Amino acid sequence: ETFEQCAFDGVLMGVIKKAGYEKPTPIQAQALPAALAGRDILGIAKTGSGKTAAFVLPMLVHIMDQPELEKGEGPIGIIVAPTRELAEQIHKETRRFSKPYNLRVCAAFGGISKHDQFKDLKAGAEVAVCTPGRMIDLIKMKACGCKRVTYLVFDEADRMFDMGFEPQVRSIIGQVRPDRQTLLFSATLPNKIDRLVQDALTSPVRVTV
Ligand code: AMP
Repeated sequence: ETFEQCAFDGVLMGVIKKAGYEKPTPIQAQALPAALAGRDILGIAKTGSGKTAAFVLPMLVHIMDQPELEKGEGPIGIIVAPTRELAEQIHKETRRFSKPYNLRVCAAFGGISKHDQFKDLKAGAEVAVCTPGRMIDLIKMKACGCKRVTYLVFDEADRMFDMGFEPQVRSIIGQVRPDRQTLLFSATLPNKIDRLVQDALTSPVRVTV
């Protein structure tokens, strides 16, 4: 398995190499082709497996493939994580890979001024990396809508549910068009998560590491 098989453009191959990634990790080798083909993904994987790049790289291809990037209509990609720490890591990784594309990646989680986040979303950031509570707050404040969202990721979904975020997770899903691409990653698959997968994902490709 190689990154070359994913047919990433030269720009993205450049940042992958620059990050020091020589070949896909097992989760990437399984998830990348399916995600790049537009499929929904159920990924059973832990932190350290390389799952972040498995959902971030196809998101960038998805966004760059949009026929026209209209401004100021809210994000195209939303990545939801349970904690500020994890959201921060994902935000960093997303910025690293999106840098050459000039995409705006908004950090919508605690520890950063909500006012700045509001402005970033209002100004038309193409990607939001968020925690569920803060994202709902910003949507309620009308920083953005979810009309333009076509790529939706939930990371560490089991932890999110353990923390009591099921209502927020379902609220976000309910605001995003049903023909979106949805990727859900979880270390375990308890019944509650299985139900969410059945409710929110369409014929997902299941990848396990
Ligand atoms: P993650 O599981 O996404 O948190 O990734 C764990 C660590 O592995 C991070 O430091 C990544 O930058 C790194 N990583 C992810 N994919 C690869 C790869 N294909 N080759 C080398 N390192 C990687």
